[in-house]
Amino acid sequence: MPRLIVVSNRVADIHSSNAASSGGLAMAMAGALKEEGGVWLGWSGETSDDGDGPPQFSTVDNVTLAKIDLSRQHVEEYYNGYANRTLWPLFHHRTDLTSYEQSFSESYLDVNRTFAQAIRSFVKPGDVIWVQDYHLIPLGRELRALGVDNRIGFFLHIPWPARELFVTLPQHSDLVWSLFGYDLVGFQTEKDLMAFRDYFQTELKTQQDDEGLIDLFGRRLLARSYPISINPSEMAELSNTETAANSFRRMREGNEECKILLGVDRIDYSKGLPNKFAAYNRFLERFPERRGTAKLLQIGQPSRSLVEEYQDLGEELMAEAGRINGRFGRLDWTPLSYHTQSYGRDALAGIYRAADACLVTPLRDGMNLVAKEFVAAQDPADPGVLLLSRFAGAAEQLTEAVFVNPYDKEQTAEAIVQAIDMPLDERQDRWRAMFDTISRSSLTAWKNNFMADLKNEDRPETPDR
Ligand code: UDP
Repeated sequence: MPRLIVVSNRVADIHSSNAASSGGLAMAMAGALKEEGGVWLGWSGETSDDGDGPPQFSTVDNVTLAKIDLSRQHVEEYYNGYANRTLWPLFHHRTDLTSYEQSFSESYLDVNRTFAQAIRSFVKPGDVIWVQDYHLIPLGRELRALGVDNRIGFFLHIPWPARELFVTLPQHSDLVWSLFGYDLVGFQTEKDLMAFRDYFQTELKTQQDDEGLIDLFGRRLLARSYPISINPSEMAELSNTETAANSFRRMREGNEECKILLGVDRIDYSKGLPNKFAAYNRFLERFPERRGTAKLLQIGQPSRSLVEEYQDLGEELMAEAGRINGRFGRLDWTPLSYHTQSYGRDALAGIYRAADACLVTPLRDGMNLVAKEFVAAQDPADPGVLLLSRFAGAAEQLTEAVFVNPYDKEQTAEAIVQAIDMPLDERQDRWRAMFDTISRSSLTAWKNNFMADLKNEDRPETPDR
């Protein structure tokens, strides 16, 4: 029986008892693996003193997890280095934060070779390989170099950069050449696909045909967009848990007269958190009569705390939150609650539902699942308002959100007022349209469509789950 081989930087512990907390993507991958049988390979998260280790296998039923320990140098240069300090900032258009360190790119290739060799040792004819995200762009090419001729697909979870910025990377042509090791490359949005197209049309003088196929470097690649989503029924189930009910109650207690504006973001410079705080500060300055009638609850999920830029951002946000509360706070009202902690998805379901508006204001984001989860968690009788950055991938689909330009604090401050004042029938109309969109393009549909295209089969009809 042909199997599915999923490869990503980290492997989620889907065999453990608390697997459900691993997040939507992990559960979708687990679902695909259980349906087809297969292997999930990635870094164990452990550091080894004697070079990259061989894969350690653990199998439950028809799914095997294969985890590889990486050397200290590779963790530093491949993961903290090329992935998080080169590709992440560059693909999010932060050339000012991008490190162009040559040794990072060498370790990046080394680790991709380690992964390719591991896969080569167990892959069988007919197995289908699905590689996830920017950590592993060269993996397809490395597998081809080892003679693997199976179907191999790649999905990029982050945005594809504009050509003018991408070409600042010394390895830009190698990375694009690497992508032609795949049979199928998936992007989040049409905009990303257009940016990719702009690169090979301008730099390589090649066209994509009407089917989405590109012939280059002696290979034929299909490139398409597959916007990732959530399963709305899963959010509905989470909303019914006791933990969700508890967080809902604690959010609303004492806030009967106060509108709750919510933010849920990783502490990452792509999320536009300083801009959000500045816009909220502006809202309080410009509309003094609104003070005491609304408050912002910002959840800042700690992230990549070994990288200096992330430490600096964490400190900046802490200080800014203090300044806003110092300037506007009263005995009976704290304008901004800023929590730097991570919540379980069940608690989040209740938090989303208790909020009157969600402020999703990234400067650049591949998709942004928080926007979709917020919509899915709302009470249809009294839904909250989604304020959405036009620079989030989700903006291509959630067209009934209140759009903001996060760089424009005046406009964002006005959008906050619009959200607070929005009449119930308008809130319901906007919510219904967005909920329908999410229900039509679920996470299950995303996975099924990608897999069908990778296997060259007709796409199946996909219900919500
Ligand atoms: N999330 C979570 N706990 C938190 C904050 C966020 O589980 O305290 C989850 C959230 O439910 C969502 C994901 O983290 O599924 C964030 O995805 P998104 O696409 O919005 O941003 P990313 O962090 O992947 O850039």
